[in-house]
Amino acid sequence: MGLIIQKFGGTSVADKDKLLNVCKHAIKEYEANNKVVIVVSAQGKTTDRLISEEQEISTNPDKREHDVLLSIGEQITISKLAIYLKELGYDAISYTGWQIPIITDDIYGNANIIDIKTDRILKELENNRIVIVAGFQGITKSGDITTLGRGGSDTTAVALAAYLKADKLYIYTDVDGVYSEDPNKNENAIKYDTISYDKMIEMAKNGAKVLHTKCVEMAKKYNVPIIVKSTFVENEGTIVK
Ligand code: ADP
Ligand code: ASP
Ligand code: MG
Repeated sequence: MGLIIQKFGGTSVADKDKLLNVCKHAIKEYEANNKVVIVVSAQGKTTDRLISEEQEISTNPDKREHDVLLSIGEQITISKLAIYLKELGYDAISYTGWQIPIITDDIYGNANIIDIKTDRILKELENNRIVIVAGFQGITKSGDITTLGRGGSDTTAVALAAYLKADKLYIYTDVDGVYSEDPNKNENAIKYDTISYDKMIEMAKNGAKVLHTKCVEMAKKYNVPIIVKSTFVENEGTIVK
């Protein structure tokens, strides 16, 4: 029995069938007597859509309001997933970043997590609930919504793993691990069984978006191993450690 964090990105939660697949991943760990925290991104291209709708109004939007808008996508996913798990007979509860709260600095659009109050999550886990947390968002000390930068749900997951002292952190995505190059662009790319934090940080900085750079930096700081796996195919992933 342990505390497991599972993070699912946009493709993995894109529609109703994919949400069911996410439920199955969570239920498998829950039925194995683990405490389960799920972190999710916005569905499919929701964040891109919000940005293009915003651009139709303003090419230089107010930074605070930009984050209020972008944070909506993840809130849709957490609620749908909680409703789905309950429909399947499992007790689940969703939280936005500000409900937890996940405290950040005030760099709108690229905020950094500075603290997480874990009490509510721990209490719900004690009550045997599956806890679902919105990725990519937080709140400043003065109460304003922030977002963590594109791809930032990975960072939410690592931060939660650190603050909750999770036993395992899985980042489920649409590829089955970290490769030497983007496997969708080069079919000869080689998959790593393990990769160091430093090498992964370098790759992320050079555009390997499979992991958000800040998430790997945080994983290194708190010594949190990240297991990158496919949501859709059952095989060994890559351990970033
Ligand atoms: P998610 O929505 O699950 O967060 P992302 O789209 O952010 O997923 O990241 C996964 C994508 O990262 C893959 O579809 C892949 O095309 C891309 N990618 C880029 N570089 C790499 C790499 N070196 N190894 C694996 N995937 C990579
Ligand atoms: N939904 C956000 C984005 O598209 C965060 C994430 O996917 O991790 O950038
Ligand atoms: Mg991503």
